Amino acid sequence: MSIPRAFLIKSRKRRLEQGHPWVYPGEIERIEGEPLGGDIVHILNHDGHFLAQGFYNPVSQLVIRVISYSEKTIDEDLFLEKIQRAWRRRQWLLPAASSCRVVHGEADFLPGLIIDKYEDVLVVQILALGMEVRRQWIINALKKIFNPRGIYERSDVSVRRLEGLEERVGFVEAAFDTQITLLENELKIMVDVAEGQKTGYFFDQRENRASLKPLMTGWGEKHGITKDKEGCLRDARGKEIKNPFWDGAEVLDCFSHTGSFMLHACLYGAKRVTCLDISEKAMEMAKRNALLNGFLHRTDFVAANAFDFLREQVKDKKTWDVVILDPPAFAKNRQALEGALRGYKEINLQGMKLVRDGGILVTASCSYHLSAARFLKMIQEAATDAHKVLRLVEFRRAGKDHPVLLGSEETDYLKFAIYEVYDR
Ligand code: SAH
Repeated sequence: MSIPRAFLIKSRKRRLEQGHPWVYPGEIERIEGEPLGGDIVHILNHDGHFLAQGFYNPVSQLVIRVISYSEKTIDEDLFLEKIQRAWRRRQWLLPAASSCRVVHGEADFLPGLIIDKYEDVLVVQILALGMEVRRQWIINALKKIFNPRGIYERSDVSVRRLEGLEERVGFVEAAFDTQITLLENELKIMVDVAEGQKTGYFFDQRENRASLKPLMTGWGEKHGITKDKEGCLRDARGKEIKNPFWDGAEVLDCFSHTGSFMLHACLYGAKRVTCLDISEKAMEMAKRNALLNGFLHRTDFVAANAFDFLREQVKDKKTWDVVILDPPAFAKNRQALEGALRGYKEINLQGMKLVRDGGILVTASCSYHLSAARFLKMIQEAATDAHKVLRLVEFRRAGKDHPVLLGSEETDYLKFAIYEVYDR
């Protein structure tokens, strides 16, 4: 049985050759054979030269998704090999990580497939029809490679509709306790893979969270704390200081979710961290995590809308040494970008107003429709309006378990910046 062949038009942009993993309907000149949705097709240029193999889905705007640049048969063994390779890459680049993203879709040459490893449990998310019809191959491979305690499916995302798929969520086979305590940068973090957002946790900021380390200490002197002749610590009014975290930062962690930034802040010496999230459930989880790591006495939890909370704190003239903003993706599509930018600017503007002179703003965006350049411009505009002068300490992207495929902007979605903030 010969494999259907899709010939691309001559005048198209050579996106596929540049590493982009999708073919759009307008790029196809003709298809030989009669592929069904989910079938493999060979992609050829107008001259009939083989370019790649991909999943076909006539219902989707991403009519073909590249799965391989070779003509080798796409079978269960190849899936096993690809997933194994993705896992080995994590073991190589993140040898200390027992929990991480194992497969990051297109960027791991497995389009529409997400696999996250939570210690001995796996979470699968399937976003493409071609993956959906090969679901059993994926499950078999995961069992073979990881021998997991359990596998949970979190295909409860609306983008599946664009592929003609219903949402699906639940245990893949036997049920198990979905609350898992994972280890990240020495911290214990309890997450719920069934109840938590996305697949339960955001692994993409692992290295970014670790980058908080130097920022969490060195604040004592700025708070007016000095050592007297006897070596006793005293505040500006001369009162003796006994707090062992006297040199630590006062931190506001907005959009805190499970509290992972708060946990890192405490680990690295913060004096006090206030966590904020709109979700009560998230705040309960964050509190449990603070308790689990012995940080409860240094933390506060507020369930509120960040837009209201930030404005109120500005009105009340509250300030912090470090303000962290890790909002959800406000722009779910390109059309929503302008509205989203207003939201991003607002929280950044209010957020930086809450930073003490010479303090730190940590700000992120995970919306891939917002380019890094536009993100930086937005911060600049917020700084102008807030009468602040910003100095960049570090600009970072997603962690190593979220590879960025050159030629595929969609895989380069996370922006993370650390600024010193000065009054103007
Ligand atoms: N910082 C987290 C991830 C944040 S995800 C981590 O590292 O794990 C975004 C979070 O923002 C979610 O927990 C969501 O509940 C929360 N959120 C969404 N809209 C919000 C709003 N308007 N105000 C406060 N929190 C909000």
